[in-house]
Amino acid sequence: MANTDMKWDAQLDGCHVGGISIKRIADLESYPLPAGAIFPDQNDAIIRGLTDRFGPLHIDPGSLKIFLSFHSFVIRTDAHTILVDLCLGNDKIRADRPQWHMRSGPFLGNLAAAGVTPEDVDFVMCTHLHADHVGWNTKRADGEWVPTFPKAEYLFAEKEYAYWRAEYDKNPPEPLLYGAFEDSVLPVVAAGQATMVAGDHRVEAGIYLEPAYGHTPGNVVVHVEDGGDHAIVCGDAIHHPVQLAHPEWSTNFCFDADQSRVTRTALLEDCAGTGTLLLPAHFQAPEFGRIVRDGRKFGIER
Ligand SMILES: [Zn+2]
Repeated sequence: MANTDMKWDAQLDGCHVGGISIKRIADLESYPLPAGAIFPDQNDAIIRGLTDRFGPLHIDPGSLKIFLSFHSFVIRTDAHTILVDLCLGNDKIRADRPQWHMRSGPFLGNLAAAGVTPEDVDFVMCTHLHADHVGWNTKRADGEWVPTFPKAEYLFAEKEYAYWRAEYDKNPPEPLLYGAFEDSVLPVVAAGQATMVAGDHRVEAGIYLEPAYGHTPGNVVVHVEDGGDHAIVCGDAIHHPVQLAHPEWSTNFCFDADQSRVTRTALLEDCAGTGTLLLPAHFQAPEFGRIVRDGRKFGIER
């Protein structure tokens, strides 16, 4: 049955897309960063001008730092339990990123609170292979990195994996992606749990990938459709709500800033005025909703 007024339920920290449920699983929230560390095109005057519009959930009005969340989405269909984007992980050596370093975060407890054990997970998907999207792919056990989800098939977009694999092979002693390729991707491949898939791979009816290149060479988004409802788990196609006001802003972490801008703008234009719910990887909850057009900018309607 189509749920024509489908919304993100802040209490539930999730939503229902027809008969499919989606729930957010937090790893780290309210992570402050100077806007300039992410957006090369910003300046204090612009960010100050956006503080009223977006509020202290997203921008600290004093320091003008912006806040990011790091979370997964767990998608439950009649057939499968699917985790998208695996955040930072625990016990990972990330010396260049103190708040990511040797964490003992609440992710698995939050997953358990949502009624999901690691054994329940059928598929793990990463929209891309940056360190903050693969961390919980693996956990430390007896000094080794092993897949956190023992029964899951991990789906990697083959174009994304091939790019980072080639980078890794060029300079194996150099930590790639803060070391995440080695501790959070390769052990999954070694365990035989990785499947390389096309950028438009279909997992089951209503769950499919779409290429969204730019942020990384093989970046994808995940569509969820059922009963006339539609949500897009869009990873880092958009990082922060300020990009609704400035969709032209790519980030310092984008592989191809121009392509990223084209992809982001097209995504927002496609969603604008439709019932599609947009679920980015780093928006602070509960800022998930439908996209509305506001002149040449965009807004979000919760
Ligand atoms: Zn990210």
